[in-house]
Amino acid sequence: MSDCFILLAAGKGKRFKSKTLKQFHIINGKPLIYHSIEKAIKSKIFKEIIIVTNSKIKKPKQKFIKIIKGGSERYKSSQKALEYIRNKKFRNVFIHDAARPYFTVQLLKKLKKLLVNNKAVIPYINTDHSVKYKNGSNLTNLKRENLILTQTPQCFDFKTLYKLSSDNKNYITDEATLFIENNQKIKFIKGEENNYKITTKRDLDKIKSKTFYGIGFDIHKLEKNKKLYLGGLHIPYHSGLKGHSDGDVILHAIIDALLGATAKKDIGAYFPDDKKKFKNIRSTKMLKPILINLSKSNFEINNLDINLICEQPKVSRYRDKIIKSLSKLISLNRSQINLKGKTVEKLGLIGKEKAIACEVIASVINHD
Ligand code: ZN
Repeated sequence: MSDCFILLAAGKGKRFKSKTLKQFHIINGKPLIYHSIEKAIKSKIFKEIIIVTNSKIKKPKQKFIKIIKGGSERYKSSQKALEYIRNKKFRNVFIHDAARPYFTVQLLKKLKKLLVNNKAVIPYINTDHSVKYKNGSNLTNLKRENLILTQTPQCFDFKTLYKLSSDNKNYITDEATLFIENNQKIKFIKGEENNYKITTKRDLDKIKSKTFYGIGFDIHKLEKNKKLYLGGLHIPYHSGLKGHSDGDVILHAIIDALLGATAKKDIGAYFPDDKKKFKNIRSTKMLKPILINLSKSNFEINNLDINLICEQPKVSRYRDKIIKSLSKLISLNRSQINLKGKTVEKLGLIGKEKAIACEVIASVINHD
């Protein structure tokens, strides 16, 4: 890995008309810029990811993600980033606009492959519009089939781009322009229609995503002198939930709801209770691979609605703590999780405080 991914996120986005800068607008539970960052990580192509921004953002946990200050124009931000990595010996550099969150990991891989025999590989799409060129009072009709609209990510041989960029004093809208102005060869490839640029708020409505729902249910018996875990949280109580694992009914019902929404069978298919290796396993460990698979198949959780059915302990006492724990475990905003407590009028096993049950409805979004 000797490639670097530069994410330009220093724009002011005036046409977006919002108090929150466009690049930090929350889309499907996370700020716009993270959609690109996550895909860059997923591609496993990059040794370093540079975020160029003029806003204060939380430093990511990953050491290979760096944040640097941008310039007053896009091309100046790009220049600053190239200067920053000048001595880092990267072979290739990818430059991407944060306002395009919908490219695919496959596109990154395709660009990288073609870079072996080219100094610049740029994705483009054609246009359906009828375009005229106005030069003073002269109008020229442009042939639609000859027009190409360049997109990002654009990728380059670092040395070639660095030289062109550091010599450049002109306003340019992307690095492809720089190559063209200097009569340098570009390998153009067909880009992705979905990889459009978010400029105004209306562009957010174009997002093509499908929503799916899943339901989960679980019940475990209470047993004296066992630790009680609900939603990954240890709750002080005289009894805990009996089971092959720690009996965390909330996490089990969430797992089943997520598997349901993504049509991936049920919890028993992944963690059969006759397997010794899962004996006494913490349910947080069961949740993890389920979440990884979810994100690998391009699913994102939209929201979780949870009914915890028990007489004791009182849900209202632990609601906030359980939601906080779930929010951390699932990397979801607290506003996307709801927890309701339900008693059963002292009826049956649950009413006699001998068991706790839970049901969950999950909604997930798929972007493919
Ligand atoms: Zn269970």
